[in-house]
Amino acid sequence: MSQLWYPYTQMLNAPKMPCVVNAQGPYLEFADGRRVLDATSSWWCLIHGYKHPELDQALQDQASRFAHVMLGGLTHEPAQALAKALVDITPEPLNHVFFSDSGSVGVEVALKMAVQYWHNRGQTNKQRILAFYKSYHGDTSGCMAVCDPAEGMHHLFNHLLPQQIFAPAPSVGLDASWQQVQEDIQPVRVLLQQHAHETAAVIIEPLLQAAGGFNMYSPLYLQALRELCDEFEVLLILDEVATGFGRTGTCFAMDQAQICPDILVLGKGLTGGYLGHAATLAQTHVYDAFLSQDNERAFMHGPTFMGNPLATAVALRSLQVFQQDHYLQRIQNLQQQLQQELCAPLAHEQVVDIRAFGATGVIEVKDAQALAGVQAYALQEGVWLRSFGRYLYTMPAYILTPEQMRHIIQVMRAWFTEER
Ligand code: PMP
Repeated sequence: MSQLWYPYTQMLNAPKMPCVVNAQGPYLEFADGRRVLDATSSWWCLIHGYKHPELDQALQDQASRFAHVMLGGLTHEPAQALAKALVDITPEPLNHVFFSDSGSVGVEVALKMAVQYWHNRGQTNKQRILAFYKSYHGDTSGCMAVCDPAEGMHHLFNHLLPQQIFAPAPSVGLDASWQQVQEDIQPVRVLLQQHAHETAAVIIEPLLQAAGGFNMYSPLYLQALRELCDEFEVLLILDEVATGFGRTGTCFAMDQAQICPDILVLGKGLTGGYLGHAATLAQTHVYDAFLSQDNERAFMHGPTFMGNPLATAVALRSLQVFQQDHYLQRIQNLQQQLQQELCAPLAHEQVVDIRAFGATGVIEVKDAQALAGVQAYALQEGVWLRSFGRYLYTMPAYILTPEQMRHIIQVMRAWFTEER
């Protein structure tokens, strides 16, 4: 007997999973004939919804030419065009692009780049990374080592992983003052005073620590962090795998802080969610540290599917649709609706907080048990909704109509208000 093994679902007597047979726009269609509205855009990546005609076309066009070719020693147009487009939409100093095949690998690439950067410059002791509580950066060993070491999904493996340095999660809200930010970031300053000599980089998810608890924090905090990284001579890595391509209301979350990292990681929405792919962008001073006459400083990382032509072709079209269809305005509208309708007062003993930012809305409860059964309930109401831990969230495709957004909001709130 063979059976597919799914993540997070080894529950005895787990309910049978719906089998998707078709998908269109924000809707999933199941084998039993049900059609449900996806509140999660499939783990936050299908930003245009399913089966977008232009993205489908880009994929077909590229498939009719060639589906894959190695990017080592060879190049191809979709990879080159996407690299150029990414350099054009990110801050000016980011002008080198390294492709890989998933967000986790994109983060690994960033971490390895940071360590080798200092090594190539003769500072071989700068090998550690400063990360934050409540962070989530992916599932590989390097990534697990920079995820929240206590609450995160990976704490079981802590003893096997390189011991990184952890600062408290930012705790100042989106509209904090500079003074509040300075106080909040003080522990980072202290850690850098102690460890900068052995620290290659600081890594953080800008403005929204997503899978570690939907912690939303001030752009001023990012500005202060950039200043600290400069003062203590460590690189700043921004992980925009979840926040990139509009999720927080600007194309990139870092745009709201008007800062530029030394290294930036993009994934998820990069291909419109069609294929796994990631881009790690670096400033010239980072790239230059890897140049040498005899290649002895070269960056030794070569994922087989880096720059895959299907992925890069569809990513390029995804970016064009993002711009031509005025997504930032759509995301503004979703944010307004979430703030007004999801965040309206909700009197329930379990509800600790309701917050919304960009196209992200979250209800936080006291006890994860309060969300047991919410997914089955939402399915009955025609919505594919997910919770994890103490968080019930929506991160939908940006193409939702106000009615569709309202339907999701009503189901999220009704879980707490309706008699069942
Ligand atoms: N970084 C962040 C901020 C993420 O949210 C995720 C995935 N949820 C990753 C990295 C890892 O990306 P992937 O699942 O594509 O490996």
